[in-house]
Amino acid sequence: MRAMHEELTGTFVVVVGSSGSGKGTLIRHLKTSFPNVVFPSSHVTRPMRENESEGFPYHFLSVEEFEKNIAEDKFLEWAQFSGNYYGTLSESILPHLTKGEVVIKELEVQGVRLLLEKLPRHVLKIVFIDAGNWEEYAEARIHARAPISEGELAARRKRYEDEQTFKTEADFVVQNKDGDLEIAKKQFEEIIRSIIT
Ligand code: 5GP
Repeated sequence: MRAMHEELTGTFVVVVGSSGSGKGTLIRHLKTSFPNVVFPSSHVTRPMRENESEGFPYHFLSVEEFEKNIAEDKFLEWAQFSGNYYGTLSESILPHLTKGEVVIKELEVQGVRLLLEKLPRHVLKIVFIDAGNWEEYAEARIHARAPISEGELAARRKRYEDEQTFKTEADFVVQNKDGDLEIAKKQFEEIIRSIIT
């Protein structure tokens, strides 16, 4: 294991933040500016949404296929989120890190915690997308959308607070309160530039 880690000369940029914080939008924006950076697609079991297709942004698997990959130890990390599986295949990350490349991927918090256990800390750069405090976040990204029950709101708050713990653990924090998307894009791009150079 140690020998393998010594060969990891690349950087895995892990983007974490609450759902609706803009992780996906910010990562998509980077793709045109950084042609040498690797943007691997996760494997997931959730249903494909409108505007999504196989590979964009995810590879869509059945539960059986996903569980077969778990049994065969193919995932570097995986998690269950809202009743679906999400995972990162080792083969989509480790060969790039061995070649000294930069890989960028968004993950929910359980996956980030697993990576912190599995990979040396210096290989990981954690970028936290800060969508504001709970009141600001709930106002802009929950209440402004379809109404939800008290129970669901309490669950969202618990998850939000869990995600917030990464604000202090992250290497970088991008501010993305509602309406600041252009500033956030610039800030995120500068962070990636500083990691690459
Ligand atoms: P969504 O279903 O909204 O696209 O994603 C739900 C959550 O899963 C988001 O927080 C997203 O960042 C996270 N996610 C996407 N891919 C992966 C993955 O491969 N592993 C883990 N652990 N989380 C992921």
